[in-house]
Order: sequence, then C-alpha cells, then structure tokens
Amino acid sequence: MDLKIGYKKNNSIYSTNWDVVVIGAGAAGLMTSLELPSKLKILLLNRNTSKRSSSRWAQGGMAAVTRLEDTEDIHAFDTIKAGAGLCDHQAVKMFVENAPRLVERLLKLGMEFDRTSGKLSTTLEAAHSHRRVLHVKDRTGKALVDVLNDQVDQRENVLHQRGIRVTQIWVEKEKCLGVQVLDGPLLRWIHSKAVVLATGGGGHLFANTTNPTQAAGEGIALGWRAGAVIEDLEFFQFHPTALQLDGAPSFLISEALRGEGAVLVDAFGTSPVDHLEGKDLASRDQVSRALFKVMQKQQVDHISLDLKSIDVEDVEERFPSIFQRCRELGLEPLKELIPVAPAAHYWMGGVSTNLKAETSIKGLFALGEVACTGLHGANRLASNSLMECLVFANQMRDIKLNDSRSGNDLIGSTIDIQSNLSFFHEKGSKFLEEEIEKLRNLCWRQAGVDRSQKGMSVAFSTVKRDYENLLKEPLLNLVFNQSKNEIHRFDEIARRDLNLLIDLSNRQIASLLMLEACLFRQESRGGHFRDDFPCSVPFWKCHTRQVKGKTIHTRPVSDISAYSRNF
Ligand SMILES: Cc1cc2nc3c(=O)[nH]c(=O)nc-3n(C[C@H](O)[C@H](O)[C@H](O)COP(=O)(O)OP(=O)(O)OC[C@H]3O[C@@H](n4cnc5c(N)ncnc54)[C@H](O)[C@@H]3O)c2cc1C
Repeated sequence: MDLKIGYKKNNSIYSTNWDVVVIGAGAAGLMTSLELPSKLKILLLNRNTSKRSSSRWAQGGMAAVTRLEDTEDIHAFDTIKAGAGLCDHQAVKMFVENAPRLVERLLKLGMEFDRTSGKLSTTLEAAHSHRRVLHVKDRTGKALVDVLNDQVDQRENVLHQRGIRVTQIWVEKEKCLGVQVLDGPLLRWIHSKAVVLATGGGGHLFANTTNPTQAAGEGIALGWRAGAVIEDLEFFQFHPTALQLDGAPSFLISEALRGEGAVLVDAFGTSPVDHLEGKDLASRDQVSRALFKVMQKQQVDHISLDLKSIDVEDVEERFPSIFQRCRELGLEPLKELIPVAPAAHYWMGGVSTNLKAETSIKGLFALGEVACTGLHGANRLASNSLMECLVFANQMRDIKLNDSRSGNDLIGSTIDIQSNLSFFHEKGSKFLEEEIEKLRNLCWRQAGVDRSQKGMSVAFSTVKRDYENLLKEPLLNLVFNQSKNEIHRFDEIARRDLNLLIDLSNRQIASLLMLEACLFRQESRGGHFRDDFPCSVPFWKCHTRQVKGKTIHTRPVSDISAYSRNF
C-alpha cells in the first residue's frame, strides 16, 4: 500500500527531501517509478511538456517467450546472434528469463495486447527465429505508455513534473547527490539520495532518423560530464525502412510489415536483399547497408516496399497508424509502393550499468535506451528494447540509496540574468538552430550507415573545435559553475538561447564521443560498418569504454558460459 505522503498537492519540489529523482518519462522512467519501493519519495522529471517520446512512438511490439514451441534458450540465442559477439551473457540470461514474467506484470497493470482466439498474438521481426513479438496493432508503445502513465498518476509517492530539464548531475566524492534543473526561467539544484537516468537514445543526432527531437544523446552527455563510464557508442542501429517522401518528416514503416509478407524492391523491381541470409528479414544492419548500396548505385533516394502479397484485410486492421500516415501524405499503400530509406533508429551504446542498473557512480542508475547493459551487444534484436526498459526497471526494487542529507540549505538568493550576457545574443536563436542542423547533417554523412577514417577524422576535428568555442559562452559557463545554493532567473530570450546552447553542447559531446568510438574500432561489426575495415576481427571482440579525463580503452565481453544450453 502506498504511503500518503501528501506533497503531490502542495507541489513543492524544492522543499521536499527526495529519495529518488528519475530523469525521463518514457517506458524506462515510468516503469522505474512504479517498481521502486512505494515508501520512497520519487520525483519524475520530463523535459517535454507534450507526451512525445520514443516509447510512445514504438510500433512493432515487445519480445518475450509466450508460445509453447518457443523457449528462453532460443530467445537468448537469437539475441546473442544479433549482438555479433558482444552480448554479455549474464545480461541476456537475466533478460530472457524475466521477460515472460514482465508480460504477466503488464497484463495485471491493464495492458491489453492483441489476441487471437483468446491467446496473445505474436508476430515475427528481423532475426527472430520464432513469432514472439507481442503487440497492440502498430501502436504498442502508445498503449504501453498510456497504461504506465495512468498507474503513475495513481501513485501517492510519485510526483511527475513536465517541462523541467535536467542540466547536470550533482556528483561529490564519486557519489551522486542530485541534479541541476532548468525549470521555466529558473536554474537551481535539487538534492536526492539517488538519481535514475532514463533519458532515451540519440537517433536525433543524425539528420535522418525515426526518433523524436529530444532523443539527442542528452543522457550520455550528462553521464559523461558526471564521470560515469560510457560503453559501445560506435554501435548504432539504422532501420532500413523509414518513410522517404519529399517534404514529409521521417516516419517508421514497421518491420512487422515484412514479417507479414511485404517485400523490398529496387528501381528495377528486383530484390535488393536477395543475397542476404534471411532476405527481407535479415538483420537490420545488413538490410540497411544493402539498401544504401543499391541507392548509391542506382542514384536514387529510396527503395520501395511492396505490400501486394499480404492479406489486405489483416494488414489494414493490424497497421492502422502506418496506413493512416501514408494516406495523410497522399499515398495509397495497397495500390502504390511505399518509398523507404535507412534512418538512425536505436543506440546500442550508452551509460554502462550492471544487472541492477547501477552505473560506475554510487547512487547514479541508468536504464532504457540511454544505458548500455550488455544485452544488445553490437546490434539489438528487434523489439528487445521496450522489454529491456521493463526488465531493468523491475531490477530496481531493492535500490541502494546514498546517505541522507537535508536539501534545505540549497535555498539561496535569486540572481536575475539578462539575454545580453550571451555571445549569441546578436546572432539570435536562429544561428544556434542552424548549428544543430549542420551537426546532424555531418553525423549522417560521416558516421551514418557507411563510415570511413577520413570522413570521421575531419568530422571529429570540426565538432571538437566548435565545442571548444562554445564552452567560452558565458551563459553555459554560468550553468556549469553555478554553486549549489544559487538560483538564477533568466529573461525570456536568455532562457530560449540557454535551452538551445545546452542542446547544442550536449549534442556536440555525444557526437564527439560517438565519433571517437567509431574511429577507435578498426573493424566492422553489428551496427558499426567501416568501408576501410569491412570485416570483423577477433581482436575487437571487446567493449569500448570512455570516461572523462581518460583515453578510450576496452573491456572484455563477459561470455563465460553463463548460459548453459544446447543450441
Ligand atoms: C519510431 C520508433 C519505433 C520503435 N519501435 C520499437 C518497437 O516496436 N519495439 C521496441 O522494443 N522498441 C522500439 N523502439 C525503440 C524503443 O521505443 C526505445 O528504445 C524505448 O522506448 C526507449 O525508452 P526510454 O524510456 O529509454 O526513452 P524515451 O521513450 O525516449 O524517453 C526518454 C524521456 O526522457 C526525457 N528526457 C530526455 N532528456 C531529459 C532531460 N535532460 N531532462 C528531463 N527529461 C529528459 C524525454 O523527454 C523523454 O520523456 C522504437 C523507437 C522508435 C523511435
């Protein structure tokens, strides 16, 4: 039974002594807030005022063994195979064994998965050897987030605040003690006994992506600046089929359509993936590269998806969002081919954690797409990620908190800040927005589907120079040097510029770390493909690690047969 703590009503986030601050209200942050002991006072922060998140946009579904002919061993095998030698087997074992239990948990919370003759319906996605992806039409993420949000709203011990952006993690003597936030016009600190990073991925670092704007690697930058270990940032999954229509924003065309029989065709009507084992359902990195090569060769900006051979009635019923979106854009998917192209989709790397979601900093936890738990290795098996959010949130039930400390001494005097403090005051926010777009285009060109030493080296130097220049900016300096009992209040223009400056500097850090990891790994594996090193090399069967102030290095994969089975 939840404690009636009563602070929900007076909304006093700065005078409450919080046990846990959870950053991000996607599947990972929401489920964490539900799984943490109900005696803890939890502050759930979301920089968005809207409901938008990658979790909400997820279409295909959630992977778990629910059918008799499938087993956890086979789910583990598929996950490890997709991970191209870099999955940590303990993480895989813990994940596949807990996933079916989490399905039961979700059903109890009110999730209504699609059913066939009363039983849970399952579909097939790339590199799964069995139908094990549970779904709610093509709106699985929305259904999940709606259920979790409803449950969070009912919890007396959780305060969910939208429109508050975390700008720094507070770390002293390698212990996490809270966060700095930008709350409307105010910049100030909040103390807590633990902090959970659940800020999502970084697809929006690239010009072509299926991800929403706020999925721009912010959590990686926050974690890195706090001194946490970061792993495997070179591994990015590019989804082969994002809608590619002139002027229309990118929109995911779920792989589940290919699972139901849709096929890819090039400009001449032939299959661009015929040579791949698994053909249309080969792993995403293989399909993306195959499409990319054909597009380059045929000098076109898309490949097509042909729905002719699938059952018309079933498909309309099963994929209403995709059909609706196509029709809104003037495309009739049952009569015309759907133009698609690869786009950045999922970041396998992130803030390194153990099986309890603990990072290298005491009291700092990470889960969901921002984390690198060792489950996905060099490439994620489709639909394992929403379930990973839930499985690792469930691991937080016996969270260890840091010592108590009163937050009351944080309340100091307020200092007013005018917009003319910023170097960018004259150039205006448009300049900063253009810089962000330039960076996204650079990342797509040099660190996208196809990478090479030359392009990435130039990109690295360019971003490093821009980042070092940006660090001279007085508004940013004020953020990074704010003492714990100061409160700054920004005027409207300074606040808008500061949000963009934080956005740009976090994107620069995340892009630099990714480029450094891509340059370091001189081979191709999973979601990392280099033109100049096109093969996998046994020497590189290891994780890459980045820590502030240290040179990039490696860690061995933990594959000491934690999983005993006969494949
Ligand atoms: C189009 C699309 C389809 C997908 N389909 C599937 C699928 O079918 N199956 C599957 O398993 N996976 C799918 N994925 C991947 C999956 O959705 C994500 O990996 C997962 O939802 C990540 O959840 P999360 O909670 O970690 O992050 P998110 O859902 O991205 O949530 C992150 C939250 O953090 C907040 N935030 C970020 N920075 C800050 C900050 N500084 N301060 C405060 N708040 C902050 C954001 O506002 C947001 O609320 C899909 C992804 C996309 C984009």
